[in-house]
Amino acid sequence: MQKIIAANWKMYKTRAQATQYASEFTASLRKKSYDDRLILVFPPFTAIHDLCQHFSDLPGLAVGAQNFYPANEGAFTGEISPNMLHDVGAQWLLVGHSERRHIMEESSDFIARKVSSGLDYGFKIMLCVGETLAERNAGKLVSILDEQLRSAIASLPEHIHKNLPGRFAVAYEPVWAIGTGRVAGSTEVIEAHAQLRQVLECYLGKVAADIPLLYGGSVKPENAPLLLGLDNVDGLLVGGASLEAQSFLQIIEA
Ligand code: PEP
Repeated sequence: MQKIIAANWKMYKTRAQATQYASEFTASLRKKSYDDRLILVFPPFTAIHDLCQHFSDLPGLAVGAQNFYPANEGAFTGEISPNMLHDVGAQWLLVGHSERRHIMEESSDFIARKVSSGLDYGFKIMLCVGETLAERNAGKLVSILDEQLRSAIASLPEHIHKNLPGRFAVAYEPVWAIGTGRVAGSTEVIEAHAQLRQVLECYLGKVAADIPLLYGGSVKPENAPLLLGLDNVDGLLVGGASLEAQSFLQIIEA
């Protein structure tokens, strides 16, 4: 399976900063070929259109949105619709990031609605799941991962299950590892990813093997090679270390 290396820029970068990054980034990418990598960038909404234009002639590189509201138009002040995101060139949607679950208080039901509607509107979905430190310490890892993944998949009509490969990815992001510099250990990653694969198998059967499982949480150029070599790790979701083009490039090359 092609490894997915994804950048989540969160609420960083103006359009000018994004454009400068894109120039540096694409100049390096043009010099090498990364046939075994799919590179995704999730910038703030305001930079999506500019990045899509910069990336348009580079295969294996796509842009996504960090959030959306699951309706195409309506009286939803302050929200952005799938239609609008298509319009600016986004192909992927990030759903269920821990900052949206915990800071914006998005529920599993709402996240499930977003997954199903994002797919309906023709997007590819990257669903983030992960436990807090308190949940891990309370022995709830398995139940939290089960609940977060099951609730998202259970909402999908069965006829689309076989079409999920290529359109659906899951990122395991332990909340205690995000932005803390405390990357999960190999055993922790292997255990969580095996659990997620099992839930996918239970719902999707054979196609579960073709759903990429990414790890995210304090990924850096130094730890990326080890993480990418672990069982069931089909890619990386990178926050802080993706904000500098050179550091993200090193992770892509890992
Ligand atoms: C993230 O925001 O998804 C993330 C993994 O952040 P960081 O790499 O900074 O821990």
